[in-house]
Amino acid sequence: MPANPAFRNIYNELDQAPTDLAVPASALAIGAHPDDIEFGAGGTLAKWAAAGCEVTMLIVTDGSKGSWDPDVDPTELARRRVQEQAAAAAVLGATAVRHLEHVDGELEYTMALREIMCRQVRQVRPEVVISHDPWRRYQLHPDHRATGWAVMDGVIAARDHLFFPEQGLDAHRPNAVLLWSADESDHFEDIATQFDTKIEALLCHSSQGTTTMGGAEQADDKRDSFVARMRSWAGEQGKPAGLGLAESFKRITP
Ligand SMILES: [Zn+2]
Repeated sequence: MPANPAFRNIYNELDQAPTDLAVPASALAIGAHPDDIEFGAGGTLAKWAAAGCEVTMLIVTDGSKGSWDPDVDPTELARRRVQEQAAAAAVLGATAVRHLEHVDGELEYTMALREIMCRQVRQVRPEVVISHDPWRRYQLHPDHRATGWAVMDGVIAARDHLFFPEQGLDAHRPNAVLLWSADESDHFEDIATQFDTKIEALLCHSSQGTTTMGGAEQADDKRDSFVARMRSWAGEQGKPAGLGLAESFKRITP
């Protein structure tokens, strides 16, 4: 471990190095919307999938509010986004995509949502869970906050058998939870080799070109500036660990 106390992870009893987890056999990535997982962890998941990890992507909402087009049909948009997600998953090498189809923008953190996350973790039985950081300050999107809380509390419920025994599923404890865009990052995955794959997966979400990718679907120069922004963000994320291009996370041992 580096001397920098910023790397200290009080939850991590194993005191592992703060970069590049050993490739897990299975990972469950949970995003509020189609494209959230690719932004936060697309490079890491592509790296793991290429090394044999079974990657399951779980999308909580239907993405039906993800447009600034006044004439958009939300039902049609949701349908299109399922297809975009499938294409992005194929680029990353993910094994499965699950959609919970909650209404975009209206997700609330409830005991029912916690039960759903617990069920997903117990069914998929991943070594690593990856999702939104609910502790991140000023996280604007309500779906990101609600998903983050439900995932964290769902992981604890999945771990302890007295939660939701009516599910009839065995308890399951992942080895690690990684939270992307974290309030305090303390874990870093090198994505230098996977950066282009991450971009390719993001660009599969062509319905989001205007809202989250600066018009990347409209013109070459806009796509180039989106890629440049993503490259600069990956560089920033890698800096604390001395990596060129990285995805940074908060790592928690549940
Ligand atoms: Zn989102």
